[in-house]
Amino acid sequence: MSMQIYNTLSKKKEEFVPIEPGKVKMYVCGPTVYNLIHIGNARPMIVFDTVRRYMEYKGYEVNYVSNFTDVDDKIIKKAIEEGVDANVISERYIEECKKDMAAMNVKPATTHPKATEEICGMLDMIQTLIEKGHAYAAADGTVYFRTRSFKEYGKLSHKNLDDLQGGNRSLLVSGEDQKEDALDFVLWKPKKEGEPYWESPWCNGRPGWHIECSVMSKKYLGEEIDIHAGGEDLVFPHHENEIAQSEAANGKNFAKYWMHNAFLNIDNKKMSKSLGNFFTVRDISEKYDLQVLRFFMLSAHYRSPLNFSADLMEAAKNGYERIVTSVDNLKFLLGNAQAECLTEAEEKLLAEAKGFVAKFDEAMDDDFNTADALSAIFELVKFVNTNASAENSKVYLTALKDMVVMLSDICGLIVDKKEEMLDADIEALIAERQAARKAKNFARADEIRDELLAKGIVLEDTREGVKWKRA
Ligand code: AMP
Ligand code: ZN
Repeated sequence: MSMQIYNTLSKKKEEFVPIEPGKVKMYVCGPTVYNLIHIGNARPMIVFDTVRRYMEYKGYEVNYVSNFTDVDDKIIKKAIEEGVDANVISERYIEECKKDMAAMNVKPATTHPKATEEICGMLDMIQTLIEKGHAYAAADGTVYFRTRSFKEYGKLSHKNLDDLQGGNRSLLVSGEDQKEDALDFVLWKPKKEGEPYWESPWCNGRPGWHIECSVMSKKYLGEEIDIHAGGEDLVFPHHENEIAQSEAANGKNFAKYWMHNAFLNIDNKKMSKSLGNFFTVRDISEKYDLQVLRFFMLSAHYRSPLNFSADLMEAAKNGYERIVTSVDNLKFLLGNAQAECLTEAEEKLLAEAKGFVAKFDEAMDDDFNTADALSAIFELVKFVNTNASAENSKVYLTALKDMVVMLSDICGLIVDKKEEMLDADIEALIAERQAARKAKNFARADEIRDELLAKGIVLEDTREGVKWKRA
């Protein structure tokens, strides 16, 4: 079966056909960085990282771009509270976010652009929109997008312009009455006292939120991309506005497939900072290995709401550990196995095991059904647990282990835990190396350094003594 993706634009599953054969251009809206990320924010990170991993496994070269929104009212508010510049706040939380992503085994994007570093591109696109009649500057220098000038407005959220008009009129807030139309939205706004700002032909100010993604997507991926993704709260207005800006400015279709994850809920309400009903990724890491969080996120289809609960986390922990145990067991058997060559019976068993890989692929091809894909891994694990022993050949045991590890890895689940050296063992080896050097036994000293390096420990000889770090 070919890969099918549910496209919010058509409200249907469609066959995935990339614009350029073998390549995927993918943009995922990233977080606004004013706080530690919560596990609701982690859902799109984990889901779309898994989409990326599956595409890579299928042989696509994926150019994956995910932004950091580092200029925003909430960042500015926090900066004022702490009495620091806004970029101190955003840089701090970008770093923290990257740590959380690494801990969840979310691959770094090909590019992680920041809004504040892309202002020139935004000024250019806004200028183009003005020249094409799709935008206008009001008397105070605010620039608005002329929504009605983009005839297809509403095509993503399946909203009708006239319905929106009625609904939006009441939303007009003070200062917005200079709009030509209630539907128009801000591209550029004047600075307020104490806020970061940039010069522009219209006023000293800063960009509206939506323009950054249109600009960064174009710069790093081109005018037409394959997949644009984010949480379902972004469909309207954020993604609808992105489409209007990009297509009006570039005269091309912006993204072929629009993917949206459903919410992570708590007590059946969306987990969000504003409701205060959230757990940060850091909170969860105090109680669980974050691989368990990743397993939990993938245990539901990405378009189904997922309710966070202690019970489901415990179930995820058991599920994840079942896979790790199976891999550990295979490693143990491999340590004891004697036979080198694959037998005919083993060959047959491996063919059977490959059936679970096919099942996994089938689930993932069906709009990334990770819930069914995890079930396929469990079936494989069950098969391994009943069909592997120290009597088997090394080739057979290795092939089974590789299969479990490969499927888990596509889900971003680390199940082959390399044993980490304890700090005390490292210190002991360093002391032994020092003694060897003192005794002019340089061969042994070098041997210890290389042994540590092989385990990812880097030594540095400094004036204060030997320092070490994990590579
Ligand atoms: P924000 O920092 O609010 O702009 O959100 C960053 C990303 O997280 C966006 O794609 C949001 O749609 C997504 N997101 C925020 N809260 C949740 C949630 N409770 N469940 C799923 N996705 C969420
Ligand atoms: Zn965006």
